[in-house]
Formats: sequence, structure tokens, C-alpha cells
Amino acid sequence: MHEMSVVQHLIESLDRELAQQGATRVLQVRLRRGSTFSEEALHQAFALYAPGTRLAEAELVVESVATRLTCDRCGHTRTVASQDVVHHLVACPSCGALQTLDEAHELTLVDVTLEAP
Ligand SMILES: [Zn+2]
Repeated sequence: MHEMSVVQHLIESLDRELAQQGATRVLQVRLRRGSTFSEEALHQAFALYAPGTRLAEAELVVESVATRLTCDRCGHTRTVASQDVVHHLVACPSCGALQTLDEAHELTLVDVTLEAP
């Protein structure tokens, strides 16, 4: 599941940033996922990597948007789901051409709610 490493990096960098800001506890984290990310896998990854960080007790809220991809070869456009992604590659269902998915834009941090001091 490609969600694992992406969520791990997000939690690590967020935890580092929160430490610099002097924050101690996060109440809620809101993410926006492209349809190439499974919501269930995001929750699993969050439950795995949040403990021990400032996000340990945070509620994870996931918004979703459809990831549309147009084939370079045949121009076929479709919505890509998480099970269509294999090692950052997506095959065109029309002609079979492989495209690399830029995952950097697939998961966005929308908002972080901190505990009131
Ligand atoms: Zn194609």
C-alpha cells in the first residue's frame, strides 16, 4: 500500500513542525486525498505512525477528490482509484500505456486543529 510511506513522511514532518511551534497536542488533522489513495489505508497508516508523536490523539478527517488522468498515448481520460496504482505507475485501461503518478499532489494537508493553550 503506497499510502503507508506517504502518511509516515507527512506525520514526521508535521510532528517536527509542531515541535518548532511549541505545540504539544493535536486534536484533529484534516487531509484531502486524491482517489488514488484509499481512505481505509490512510486511516490504517495514521493509526500505525501517529502513536508517539504529537498527533497520537488526533482525529483524522479525510476529504476526497477524484484524480483524473489523461493517457499520453491515446488521450483516454479516466478517474484513477487506489487499486489502479502499482509502484507509482498507472496503466491506461484503453491502450495499456504506463504513466507515472506524481503522488506529491495526491495528499494535501488541509488543516490542523491544536489543543487550546
Ligand atoms: Zn491510453
